[in-house]
Amino acid sequence: MKKHLKEDRTLVIIKPDGIQRSLIGEIIERYERLGLKLVAIKMTVPNATLVEKHYSSDPEWKKVTGTKAIESYLKKGIKPPSNDPIEISNKILANLKKYLTSGPVIAMIWEGAHAVPVVRKATGGTEPLTSDVGSIRGDFVLDSYQMSDTDGRAVRNLIHASGSNDEAEKEIALWFKKDEIVKYKHIQEKILYDVNIDGILE
Ligand code: GDP
Ligand code: MG
Repeated sequence: MKKHLKEDRTLVIIKPDGIQRSLIGEIIERYERLGLKLVAIKMTVPNATLVEKHYSSDPEWKKVTGTKAIESYLKKGIKPPSNDPIEISNKILANLKKYLTSGPVIAMIWEGAHAVPVVRKATGGTEPLTSDVGSIRGDFVLDSYQMSDTDGRAVRNLIHASGSNDEAEKEIALWFKKDEIVKYKHIQEKILYDVNIDGILE
């Protein structure tokens, strides 16, 4: 049976800088207040294998990210460190491994209508320098590709959020066992999703 949209799920990771900046509560609140339901949460220190697998959930990730990075260098008038997208993303991945294994992270699954795009919208664009004001990245962090590339490290953008439903499904299976995900009703789902709003007036 086709799932209802309200059953959509996405994976969010508060990266080590989010924990160190004491932003756990603030970040969770941003997703919670949208009406999304938290169905799994844990603190863990990922190892390099998990990070590698995480970024391989989308088989196109290396090509797409490397190509995007080259384009953004050229747009800024900077000579890319290489013209090979795979070489560029290998470097990005190596930096991401160092970043994500540097301390505890919080992995969460959020459920609700259009969970993937709604969470991406609230999280903001990947590079904090240009993330919209009002988004989590736009409001709480000031890093840039220019600075992180110069310093030879990953851009510190606080959060990972799945980019598509397909990516979300693979990432959820990677980070959580089935019995770590809780099925429960949230009282506000009635007002968010029920076709008939009744039982309010006395
Ligand atoms: P996200 O889904 O918003 O995190 O972005 P992507 O899936 O496109 O990329 C994953 C991670 O790779 C980002 O969080 C960044 O750490 C890194 N990354 C992506 N694009 C670039 C880029 O153009 N330059 C650099 N230096 N890092 C990048
Ligand atoms: Mg992504």
